[in-house]
Amino acid sequence: MAQHFINGQWVRSTSGQTLPVIDPSTGESFDTLERGNAQDIDKAVGAARAALSGPWAKLTATERGRILVRMSQLILERQEELALLESRDTGKPMSQARNDIVVAARYCEFYGGAADKVHGQQIPYMNDFHVVVIREPYGVTAHILPWNYPAQMFGRSVVPSLAMGNAVVLKPSEDACLSPLAFCDIAREAGLPDGALNVVTGLGEEAGDALSKHRDIDFITFTGSPEVGTLIQKAAAERTIKCVLELGGKSPQIVFEDADLERAATFVIKAITQNAGQTCSAGSRLLVQRSIYDRFIGMVVERFKQSSAGSPAMDRDCGPLINAGQKQRVEGFIRRAVDSGIPVLAQGSVVADVPTGGYYVAPTLFGPVPRDHQLACDEVFGPVLAAIPFDTEADAIALANATDFGLLAGIWTRDGGRQTRIAKQMHCGQVYINCYGAGGGVELPFGGVKRSGHGREKGFLALEEFCNVKTVVQYHGE
Ligand code: NAP
Ligand code: MG
Repeated sequence: MAQHFINGQWVRSTSGQTLPVIDPSTGESFDTLERGNAQDIDKAVGAARAALSGPWAKLTATERGRILVRMSQLILERQEELALLESRDTGKPMSQARNDIVVAARYCEFYGGAADKVHGQQIPYMNDFHVVVIREPYGVTAHILPWNYPAQMFGRSVVPSLAMGNAVVLKPSEDACLSPLAFCDIAREAGLPDGALNVVTGLGEEAGDALSKHRDIDFITFTGSPEVGTLIQKAAAERTIKCVLELGGKSPQIVFEDADLERAATFVIKAITQNAGQTCSAGSRLLVQRSIYDRFIGMVVERFKQSSAGSPAMDRDCGPLINAGQKQRVEGFIRRAVDSGIPVLAQGSVVADVPTGGYYVAPTLFGPVPRDHQLACDEVFGPVLAAIPFDTEADAIALANATDFGLLAGIWTRDGGRQTRIAKQMHCGQVYINCYGAGGGVELPFGGVKRSGHGREKGFLALEEFCNVKTVVQYHGE
C-alpha cells in the first residue's frame, strides 16, 4: 500500500481515503494509494518549510550534490526492480521502462555533479563599491507532474530543485506515482535530510489544486495539459510567484526530397510509437515534400504495418495507453478522422493474446490530413500520426508553425543552408536536424513557446530556473 512521504516518514491520509492503483495492461487494480487532500498538502508544505531551517539548509552545495549522486547509483543498482514497477504502473514496454530508469539516474548524476558549479558573478561598478550576484534557493518548490514518464519527470523536475537547495513538495499523477514514491526511499537511503522531499498522492482537483494554491509555496513547476496549466498559472498569479509550465505539443517532422529517407522513416515511427504516443514531444505531424510524398509515405507505411502494441512483458513498440479515458479519447480522434473521410494509410496491430481489459490502441497513420482538421492541429497523445504534403520551403515553415503549440521540430534535409534557415524560423523550444529526440537529452534545455508553455527544464538552464538571483551592492568606503 503506497503512502504519502512527508518529513521522511510514510504516512496515511488525514481522511483515511485511498484510490486504486490500476495496471493499464489489464485494467485491474493491484494496489492502493493515499487520496491526499488540502490537510495533507499543508503538512507536506510545513515539513518542507521547516527543512529550510534544519539540517538540509546546513549542507553545502557539494554535500547536496553527493546525495544526488548516491541516489543515481542506488537507482541504477535497482534498475530492474524499478523498471518492473514503472511498467506495471504505466503500461510501458519493459525496454522503455528500463531506459526511463537509466534516465532518472542520469538526472541525479548530472544535477548532483552540477550542484556546486552554479556560481554567481562579481560586477564591476562604481569605485568604492563591491557588487556580487548570488544565487539562492527559492524556498519551497511545488511540483505537479503527469503520468506519462513519472520516473524521468521526477529526475527532471525534483532533482534540479534539490540540487539548488530548495525543499520540494511533489504531487504526481494519481495514474502513475509508484516510481516517485520508490525514489523517496532511495533518497532517504542516500542521506537526504527529512523534509527536503515530500510527496503527496491524490487527485488533481483535490491535492493538486490545494498544492498550487497553498499560501506558503514559493515556486511552482507543472507538466501536463494546457488546460490545467492555465489554472496553475492563475494560482501562481494570485500569489505573484513564478511558475514554469511544460505543456503539450503537436511537433512536426519536416521531410524534404533530398533527405536520407531511410533514416528519416525509422525515426518518424519511433517518435510516434514511443510510450504509445503519450509523449509531449512526440513527432505527431509528418510534413512531406510533395515530390517524394508517395515514395516516403510508402516507406513509413511498411514500418507502421510491422508495428504492434502489447503488454509490458511482450516489449513491443507500444504498451497500452494509461487509462480507459485516454483510450476513449484517442479512439475518438481516430473515429472522427475516419468519419471525415481521411484515408487510413496503415495500421499496426494489437498482439492477439494481450490481457483482456487493457487499454491497447494500434498505431495508426492517416494521410493526407487536411491542414485545418483537428488531427492536424490538436494533441492526440496516442500513437496516431497525421501525414500532410507540402510544396516549398516557405510552405513547410508556415505549416510547421501553424498550430497553437511550439515544443519541438524535426528537419530532414541534406541542405545545410536550409537546415539553419528553417531552424531559425521554427516557433518552438527544440529543433532536431536529421535526428529526433522525443523525450531525450538530460543535458539539453527543454520547454515550449505558445500553448506548449514557458520556462526551461533540463540541462544547466534548469538550475537557473530553480533559484532566486540576488544582487548585493556594498559601499566599502575609500
Ligand atoms: P493533466 O490532466 O494536466 O494532469 C497533470 C497533473 O496535474 C496531474 O498530476 C494531475 O493530477 C494534475 N491536475 C489535474 N487537475 C488539476 C488541478 N485542477 N489543479 C492542480 N493539478 C491538477 O495532464 P495529464 O493528462 O496527466 O498529461 C497529459 C498532458 O501533459 C498532455 O497534454 C501532454 O502533452 C502534457 N505533457 C507535457 C509535457 C512537457 O514536458 N511539455 C510532458 C508530459 C506531458 P491527476 O492526474 O492525479 O488528476
Ligand atoms: Mg490525469
